[in-house]
Amino acid sequence: MSLGEFELIERFFMRPAGQGPRHAVVGNGDDCAILAPRPGMHWAVSTDTLVEGRHFLSTVPPERLGHKALAVNLSALAASGAEPRAFTLALTLPRVDADWLARFAQGLLALADASGCELVGGDTTSGPLAIGITVMGEVPAGQALLRHAAQVGDELWVSGHPGEARLALEAFRGSAMADDPPLSPAAWQAVRLRLESPSPRVALGLALRGVAHAAIDVSDGLLGDLGHVLRRSGVGAAIALDTLPLSPWLATRARAAQLDCILAGGDDYELLFTAPPGRRAEVEAIGARLAVPLTRIGQIEAAPGLRLWTGGGAGRPPEAVPNRWASFDHFQA
Ligand code: ADP
Ligand code: MG
Repeated sequence: MSLGEFELIERFFMRPAGQGPRHAVVGNGDDCAILAPRPGMHWAVSTDTLVEGRHFLSTVPPERLGHKALAVNLSALAASGAEPRAFTLALTLPRVDADWLARFAQGLLALADASGCELVGGDTTSGPLAIGITVMGEVPAGQALLRHAAQVGDELWVSGHPGEARLALEAFRGSAMADDPPLSPAAWQAVRLRLESPSPRVALGLALRGVAHAAIDVSDGLLGDLGHVLRRSGVGAAIALDTLPLSPWLATRARAAQLDCILAGGDDYELLFTAPPGRRAEVEAIGARLAVPLTRIGQIEAAPGLRLWTGGGAGRPPEAVPNRWASFDHFQA
């Protein structure tokens, strides 16, 4: 079956009336979509592109790819405390495969509908498989969570169990980290879903407005992403390694592998944020209400750079970490 570009767009990416959220003044199908923020709101806009072989493996089911392409973009809105409203889709396809497109669109639009995010336009072209999405959300003027807002004395928090996506990637690669001992079928299923079908923390980002100071989503690795917050805020941080949340699926790995996954694994799309100690009870209540694990892993300090510690509980002085995580290099990378 062969489909022209316009039939393809019409069939898979234009929604019939009554299907999906409608926020645009003029939606998909014209030269431009026309959008207006609600009174008192600012736009939060972000773009992320996924390229085959670089950001996803060719083995990923198309439904999950559609989901993930939007999820990584919604995660940026979550990190800003913005509510999803609209997105555009730039699709580069090596060939027109109607079955693949139907499954891709299903995963994409299911998440779009669940997030109240309207597909308002895009572009379709041929070439190596790549999916570029620009997402637009609304945040009350002055209330966005930003990277530069961390303050000395803030506590450092992370959601969920960072590291699981990296464990799945290592399993796909057949590396010793995932093979020794082999992951159980349940563990494999769970971490594969975290890699291929991440859940953007949109509700958490909204709940943290007015409570958290700075926030970022963990896409490149916890330490690397924390580095962006510290540099933009002009502060440093200390992390207690023994307080890092440990996924049950990572618990069977060697400690060095656990730390690799948690500190440097990307693709988790958890939120890393800072909040003053006086808001700790509120942060805990938000985690309980949303059923999202939130873990306090360190604090923001005036001295620049990052200090990693282990032990140090019960009044003992913390000891420096004697492995490569003690080095500043990785954090800068
Ligand atoms: P133009 O030639 O003016 O760029 P196009 O032919 O690329 O317009 O697109 C026609 C309409 O279809 C536009 O409204 C555009 O936003 C929409 N569109 C194109 N590709 C996609 C896509 N992959 N997903 C959603 N909408 C799309
Ligand atoms: Mg076009």
